[in-house]
Amino acid sequence: MTTSAPARHTVPGSAGLRLAALGDRAVLHDLYDETGSAVYHDLSAQDTLEVRELLGRVRTVPGPVLELAAGSGRLTFPLLALGRDVTALELSSGMLALLRQRLDEAPARIRNRCTTVHGDMSDFRLEGTFGAVVLGTTSISLLDAAGRAGLYEAVRGHLAPGGRFLLSTVERPADEAEGTDGSDGTDGADDTEVVLDVVGASGRGYRMHEHWPAGADARVITVFPAEEPASGTVPVATSTVGVLPVARLTAELAAHGLTVTARYPLPSGGWRHRDVLLEAEVAA
Ligand code: SAM
Repeated sequence: MTTSAPARHTVPGSAGLRLAALGDRAVLHDLYDETGSAVYHDLSAQDTLEVRELLGRVRTVPGPVLELAAGSGRLTFPLLALGRDVTALELSSGMLALLRQRLDEAPARIRNRCTTVHGDMSDFRLEGTFGAVVLGTTSISLLDAAGRAGLYEAVRGHLAPGGRFLLSTVERPADEAEGTDGSDGTDGADDTEVVLDVVGASGRGYRMHEHWPAGADARVITVFPAEEPASGTVPVATSTVGVLPVARLTAELAAHGLTVTARYPLPSGGWRHRDVLLEAEVAA
């Protein structure tokens, strides 16, 4: 995937101000480039909110699992722990290297059931079909409309008969309320930006900013170290993520021959939005 450094002007709000205050000391990374991947991995190991629901749904369908946008394996390892064969597809070489390193360190009974693929989820062709195709962590919103069309076609072609496509997306109650009562869906407070202090699996502290104006079709995640070193460079990782509300995603899937059969709300984890896991199957 593209690993060129994001432009500074793409970081809005108080995160942008902090970046500006750091000046040349700040080195801005994409959240999934080599440096960003390590930050993402450190943070994601702590976040298991989606895993339980996902595993529960995968258990209901037999056969091998295809995991798309597998990253460093946050969902891959729990899927392997179910005893399934898992094919993990990922675009970022940095992420894939982390996943392969973790697999190398895992017991052979786990490692031998995982196939890693360096590929693009919007355009892939693999051997065989799968009981479940999993796209977690709201990663569908990383694709534009053309990318999603390619994804849906590829997923349909890789689902075994009776197979399920399990994917999560993000939904913010304020956006749902917007327009239903004439208000902007907020309580008047400026909730454009949420800032969370998080400790990664390594023990390192981070300050995460999520900038998401009400109704906007994208949000910007920016991660700083909790404390800046007294001197030297400061790595800052950022990612701009599209927002695909459940209703829009459901309609889009239907238009591409995939019927949503169930929705499972996921815990919010301290952010003001909640994620929703959708289960879809090939339309009859
Ligand atoms: N599933 C992992 C997890 O739960 O930690 C990673 C999720 S992370 C939010 C999104 C991942 O999607 C990143 O690892 C990124 O490199 C990957 N990605 C982005 N675009 C992709 C594409 N077109 N095809 C495959 N992977 C992609």
